Order: sequence, then structure tokens, then C-alpha cells
Amino acid sequence: MTWPLPTPEEQVQFLRNLQRLLSEGLFVASYKFALIHALADLAILKGDDSGATLEISTKDIAAKFVELYWRQARPFHIGDDTAGLVLHQNTDKQAAIISHISAAQQECGGSLFRLKQTSPADWSALVSQVDRVVREMPLWKLQTVGGERLEFLYENLDTGKQITLKPGVAYCFRAFYELVRDLIEGAWVRFVQKVNANRLGNVTDLGTFLFGQERACLDAYRPILFDVQKGVCLYCQKALSKQSQVDHFIPWSRYPADLGHNFILAHDKCNNAKSDHLAAESHLATWIERNREYQIELKERLTASALPCDLTASVQIAKWVYQQIERANGQVWVSEKELRHLDPSWAACFAT
Ligand SMILES: [Zn+2]
Repeated sequence: MTWPLPTPEEQVQFLRNLQRLLSEGLFVASYKFALIHALADLAILKGDDSGATLEISTKDIAAKFVELYWRQARPFHIGDDTAGLVLHQNTDKQAAIISHISAAQQECGGSLFRLKQTSPADWSALVSQVDRVVREMPLWKLQTVGGERLEFLYENLDTGKQITLKPGVAYCFRAFYELVRDLIEGAWVRFVQKVNANRLGNVTDLGTFLFGQERACLDAYRPILFDVQKGVCLYCQKALSKQSQVDHFIPWSRYPADLGHNFILAHDKCNNAKSDHLAAESHLATWIERNREYQIELKERLTASALPCDLTASVQIAKWVYQQIERANGQVWVSEKELRHLDPSWAACFAT
């Protein structure tokens, strides 16, 4: 079955509806933000740009919830206060999902990677607990706006453990991912600020705490990347000096995921010049080739350094982001200050 792409009017309507959900929907807990965020993330990982419907299991949504709330369930420290406080995500009592996650964090010493890696049974028990809450609460209530149903994302059929995104929804999430993410994260920060107002005082860096990057020590990855890149910078192919940086190939700002194969080693100068741009096709080809040749070595060594690896997901994210840049007629970084429009030949990099 082929699906029509959503028309420009339908795409604008999608954004209008999202705004309505956020501005008129009643938010007792932050779950609805997490749900929209999770659907957008999963549209990239599992969907495509055909305009088709997309089936998503509530288990996958629950796993995304755990990832999104993992940082947020940790104590937030204000000034010299050493104990910190776990922020409320609900207007009256602590949200059930936060309690489940806090309990799991105590079991595994706070590392999500360790939980998944060394206690798969505990990880799947946690996902099941969260799954139950997701099905009972936000999944049903998300699309209620001022007493009306606004079912533009999926139909609330009583089918149990999966939902189907309506035609064009995955397409729109993929097309407007950065916009949607900013919209959700902004609204989410304001919500948490509001429900914790009397405990927080004038704290301003809540956004970083809630959505910042997990800054593990990147130095541990340096020798591994140095080996698989044979001592040269991924971008300029010249020998690496001590002044090198471990960084994301697909920038964190485009899609926030720390996945092993997405890390590269480059000169300070090259990496700073690239900044949050996407790299040109020749760099893309080098990155793909490096991952193909050293797929197993990277996975084994990076996983041993507590960095999760999922090459399929990394490739899926890269394909998506280059496709969006091409559609938007965006620019990519070549070297130093040189930017130019993405050449359609980028797609061939993935083909071989
Ligand atoms: Zn370089």
C-alpha cells in the first residue's frame, strides 16, 4: 500500500494541533511531554518518510520513558546542598514512573547502561512497570483537550499493547523533529519549574539538568577511536596531535543519543569548525567506511568502556538527518569555514 505524503496544509495543521495539546491540554504530570517526545524519537528510529502509518509498541514507548526520565529522577543539587532533591513531575504527589526509576537506580548504582547490560531482568521489569503506567495514563489522556478529543496522532483503540500513528504523523515528526523537541522540552522545563517552585527558588539551569548530555568521561574512548582511525583525524585525514577531541559525528543538537559508532576523533580545530553542522558527503563516506570495517571492534571495546552501541540505530539516525537536510536544501560542512549544499550523492554512501 502506498500512502500520500501530507500536504503542506496538513503539515501546518499537525504543528497547530501539537501547540493546542500543549497550550490547552490539562497537565497533571509531565507524562504527556514524555509521550510526545518518545513518539518523535521512535518515528525516527522506526519510521520512514513515506507518509505511512507506523505501529509502535507500548513497550518501546516505555523504554523511551525510562531513558527520558533517567536523569530527571536523580537528585537535583542547588548550591552547596549536598543531598539534593528529586524534582516532582506531578502537581500533587511524586509521579509513579519517577519512583520506579529511583528504585531501579539504587539497585544499579545509577547507571542505565549497567542496568541494561548486567541486569537485563531488572531492566525489563522496570520497562514493564513503566509500560503499565503509560497505558493507563498518558496514552489515553494525551489527546484530550478541554473536554474534547483531538485524535490526530493515533486512535485510542482498546488494542492493548500497541498504537498506530496515523498516516503522515511519522512523516511530520521526522520533518519537524528539532522544532518539536524544542517545543516539548521548553514546555516540560516550565512545568517542572512550576510544580517545584517553592522548593527551587531562583534556579535557572534546570534545562541542562533535565535534558543535558550525559557527560561521561570521553577520554576513555580516545585510544579506541585512535586505533580504528589509524591515528588520523576523521575529517582532514592528517595525523592527530594531542589536541584532539572525541565528539559526535551526527551532532547531539540534531538527535540526542550517545551511541558508540557515532563518536569520532578529530583535531580540535576541525571539530570546532564543524560545530553543529552536518559533515559533507566525503566525511560521511569515511565515517560509514570506518564503522563498516571496525563495526565489531568498536562495539566490543566501546561497550567495555560503558558506552552503548547500536550500529543500526546510528545508521538510521544518520540517514534520517541527511534526508531532512536534503529536503530543506540545507548546507553541510566541508572544511574550515567552507559550507555548501548537500550533494544528492550522499545517499550512495549508505548503499555499498
Ligand atoms: Zn583534522
